[in-house]
Amino acid sequence: MFRIKGAKWGESAMALIDTQGRTINYLRLSVTDRCNMRCFYCMPKEGIVKKGHEAVLSYEELLLIAETSVELGIEKIRITGGEPLVRSGIVGFLERAAAIPGLKHLALTTNGLLLEKMAGDLYRAGVQRLNVSLDSLDPQTFNTITRGGDLQRVLAGLDAAERAGFPPPKINVVIMRGVNDAEILTFAEMSRIRGNSIRFIEYMPAIKEEGWQRYCISGEEILQRIAECHPLEMIDKGSFAGPSRDYRIPGARGSIGVITAVSGHFCSDCNRIRVTSTGQAKGCLFSDERTDLLPFLRPPDPQALTEALKGIVAGKPKQHGISREGYCHANFTMSQVGG
Ligand code: SAM
Ligand code: SF4
Repeated sequence: MFRIKGAKWGESAMALIDTQGRTINYLRLSVTDRCNMRCFYCMPKEGIVKKGHEAVLSYEELLLIAETSVELGIEKIRITGGEPLVRSGIVGFLERAAAIPGLKHLALTTNGLLLEKMAGDLYRAGVQRLNVSLDSLDPQTFNTITRGGDLQRVLAGLDAAERAGFPPPKINVVIMRGVNDAEILTFAEMSRIRGNSIRFIEYMPAIKEEGWQRYCISGEEILQRIAECHPLEMIDKGSFAGPSRDYRIPGARGSIGVITAVSGHFCSDCNRIRVTSTGQAKGCLFSDERTDLLPFLRPPDPQALTEALKGIVAGKPKQHGISREGYCHANFTMSQVGG
């Protein structure tokens, strides 16, 4: 069983604690599985089969999930996708999400293609932090990884975000051997020169591809390559840090983190649950276990939804089953779950 315990003064009224004693305070909420890019590690070339509009949760339904989660003890919500900025009406939705009483952090992960145009609106809507996925600073490599993405547009988006008032966006980089690993140091330097925090993510086998292991570089190797050129100091993790291990080049404004999903189990620090844009709630990214929330949303049944979300926390596995030696592919693409 999980516990809901009373919190200290100044904290939200509840805390969700799972069977492993982990505090679950972070919801990743996907608003669409559509995307304006086709990153080869995330989506098949032809894209995914499009869901009909009725299959995708309405903004009202997403808000009910967000509000119910916050009432239960969730303090941080990250809006993700697919690409969240391609869904029409997203700014109005974010504004309403930001106003949920008790929500401490509203963040958004984007590929940055539409950021130049939308950064001001996102800031005014109340989004507090942006994560931008950017796997290469070389236009050709970027184009290859994203199957057609324009690096200049993403870089313009990063500048626009800062002009709009955001702190330097956190950069998510999936490092793949033989693809972009030669840029590890360039990204590390970015944390010093531009002040962006860099989050290196180990490549995960999300698209059921033979021989995926050839791309894997461990977080350890990434850190070692940086440490050969720069001293790294470890940083204290905040309460929302979750499974990332964070360091800093002394004097740099931005941090350097590694998410070791494949090489080392980070599950003991996992603080999150996920809900897809079609209402599938998951306690673990790499598990096929899910709960369909639709029956509690159509028509809305807040009490049953509360129980279902508690059930997700109660059923959160101790650890996922992915490793370099063997991996039983889960039945989804990353763009469907939202990373
Ligand atoms: N479209 C947005 C973006 O790209 O930032 C949000 C959704 S995307 C699925 C969320 C995160 O998942 C991105 O940072 C992406 O790099 C990461 N991701 C997708 N597929 C991955 C994989 N196979 N291994 C590791 N990370 C992956
Ligand atoms: Fe789209 Fe993000 Fe997946 Fe790339 S990682 S295909 S941008 S959802």
